[in-house]
Amino acid sequence: MLKIGSHCGMNAPNYLLGSVEEALSYGANALMVYTGAPQNTRRQALDKCNIEAAHALMLEHNLDQHDLIIHAPYLINLANTKKADTFDLGVDLLKSEIERSIAFGAKYMVLHPGAHVGAGSELGIESIVKGLDLVNADNDQLVIALETMAGKGTEVGRTFEEIAQIISKVQKPEMLGVTLDTCHINDAGYDLSDLDQVLADFDQIIGLDKLSVIHLNDSLNPIGSHKDRHANIGEGTIGFDNLARIVHDPRLAHVVKILETPYIDGNPPYDEEIKALRNAELSKK
Ligand code: FE
Ligand code: FE
Ligand code: ZN
Repeated sequence: MLKIGSHCGMNAPNYLLGSVEEALSYGANALMVYTGAPQNTRRQALDKCNIEAAHALMLEHNLDQHDLIIHAPYLINLANTKKADTFDLGVDLLKSEIERSIAFGAKYMVLHPGAHVGAGSELGIESIVKGLDLVNADNDQLVIALETMAGKGTEVGRTFEEIAQIISKVQKPEMLGVTLDTCHINDAGYDLSDLDQVLADFDQIIGLDKLSVIHLNDSLNPIGSHKDRHANIGEGTIGFDNLARIVHDPRLAHVVKILETPYIDGNPPYDEEIKALRNAELSKK
């Protein structure tokens, strides 16, 4: 069954229950949340997050633990070799976010690999591997799904090769997966109008069995621009048909698709985007 949803909020007073209600209001059968504000470390106590009620509502609507995706806070930067503080804070925060995500009943957590801040991607990758080994030493439950990045600034993870290097170097590769963000890979230089080629590359370099989550976004910028600005579905350079093909490709049927498209005039576009993608009629290519 097609699993598709969007980024959802997690706010007072209902927290996770409110997130699931929001997802259902979009006609979604999957969702992604931050466990708290992505830019700070303040977190609501777990017993106030309505986890059980959220799970009951998920169950009622046939959503399971694979359909609740967590996004790690983006202030975590395991690739920073220039400031020990940043690395240490990232490791500590990631450890507590892993525990929190497991308590939320999630199976996957999306993580930006990090930015090497000028030290070069080789040192950045080494540092990411060190950080992942630290946080995964006690983790045998939550898969950390490294996100493919646009290559803005000094971002690591701008090629499938860089992601593959990280996975091949960690002590527990089985606890890593990959989040493929369509806007990011477009901006990184991959041409999604040739999905067969992109998937063949991904399979050869990383392995399709490692694909855990898809972030489905159009892009405001052309292929290879290294910008990372998301566009609404069909309003960008990737285009509706290429995104709809991803949604309905049998090779990707088991992978949850999450929209992170921008609000339109202050309103979430997800209801309509999900409907359009579900009902897309694919032209032959
Ligand atoms: Fe992300
Ligand atoms: Fe993303
Ligand atoms: Zn992005």
